[in-house]
Amino acid sequence: MKVAIMGAGIGGLALAQGLLEAGVDVTVFERDPSAQYRKQGYRIHISPVGEQALAAMLPDAVRRRVIATATQPGDLVAGFDAQLNQQFEQVYPVAGPDAVTSVDRYAFRRALMTGLDDVLQFGKQFASYVETPDGVEIAFADGTSAVADVLVGADGVGSRVRGQLVPELDVLDIGVRCIYGKVPLTPAVRDVAPEAFLRGFCFVSDGSGLGAAFAPVVFREPPAEYGDYLMAVLTGTNAVLGASDEELFAMSPADLWAIVERSVADWHPTVRELVDAGEPGAAFPITLRTCITVPSWSSLRVTLLGDAVHPMTPAAGAGANTALWDAARLTRALTSDQDLVTYQQEVIANSQPIVTESLHNAERMFKVSV
Ligand SMILES: Cc1cc2nc3c(=O)[nH]c(=O)nc-3n(C[C@H](O)[C@H](O)[C@H](O)COP(=O)(O)OP(=O)(O)OC[C@H]3O[C@@H](n4cnc5c(N)ncnc54)[C@H](O)[C@@H]3O)c2cc1C
Repeated sequence: MKVAIMGAGIGGLALAQGLLEAGVDVTVFERDPSAQYRKQGYRIHISPVGEQALAAMLPDAVRRRVIATATQPGDLVAGFDAQLNQQFEQVYPVAGPDAVTSVDRYAFRRALMTGLDDVLQFGKQFASYVETPDGVEIAFADGTSAVADVLVGADGVGSRVRGQLVPELDVLDIGVRCIYGKVPLTPAVRDVAPEAFLRGFCFVSDGSGLGAAFAPVVFREPPAEYGDYLMAVLTGTNAVLGASDEELFAMSPADLWAIVERSVADWHPTVRELVDAGEPGAAFPITLRTCITVPSWSSLRVTLLGDAVHPMTPAAGAGANTALWDAARLTRALTSDQDLVTYQQEVIANSQPIVTESLHNAERMFKVSV
């Protein structure tokens, strides 16, 4: 069997590892020209669900790379008001040295690419497919084509595979924009940062829709390109951020960071100091999107995983973990006599409550109503 995966994101790469390990003929087609393309180094929490899925799919050598390049486990989730009065705190046991509880997205993808040189093709933007009696013919934007027995759309929230397979699915913009950024963890920043910001995920909110999330990314083994940092993400509607989408998505990283500085100008001086120590060139804007109902589809040769099938807000920290869960189930379906209909039913049953929870969390956190 020949499997073609569209998208070398978290789910697509993990699936490729699982299939390759099982001896399946697999190729991953990624639209980006290289692994280093685009800013994508943000922190992702890996839950036990994601960790178990990784353990089920990854060969030992790849799993060791994932563990080695993961970030050191935190032990806290906390909330603060804008003057840094703590509103809540949850403390967790610190995970062991082989645990993967959070990763930097870029370092994680690089680890998941271990050993995939022969199956990973960059610069291949999926355009469309045609199902034939023998398989699936795939057309790319560069005019080239490929054939496969099974096509997997792992091409993320804006999935073109889904666009053709389930054109009726509405992916809603929840009206919240994030300005994502990094504060390098220099000794001075470590001195200034509240202890909680260095222990886990902290959300600071002004109570009227403006929020900022902080979380440490302290690598076990940093990537060549950068070192430890404090993830800093400003969230709010366009009105709260004082910039339309036309403005936000045309701005330079430095201008985006200036919005962050302006937004926290009245907040506790420590937050301002941290933002002042940020890396303006690292800032980029993100739109938060979700589906309401996870769709079903009828093809037996074309299937979906991850954000392509169940786009969700990041407010439950579950999108990547659910993509990994899907990839583990799809590995099993494609390497056993289980069919893709069963896989699809499992995906819908598993992801629908998570999509709903992520949306409710987002409505509460970001003070929006969808
Ligand atoms: C700020 C932020 C924080 C987050 N934090 C967490 C967290 O803590 N925990 C968590 O579980 N999730 C988190 N998420 C969500 C998580 O990042 C996504 O759910 C996850 O990356 C989805 O994986 P995926 O493989 O489905 O898609 P992606 O990782 O988005 O990968 C899709 C890939 O497909 C490629 N592609 C797109 N179109 C095409 C095309 N036409 N042809 C070929 N290739 C294409 C893209 O370039 C990309 O490489 C967060 C998201 C954001 C934005």
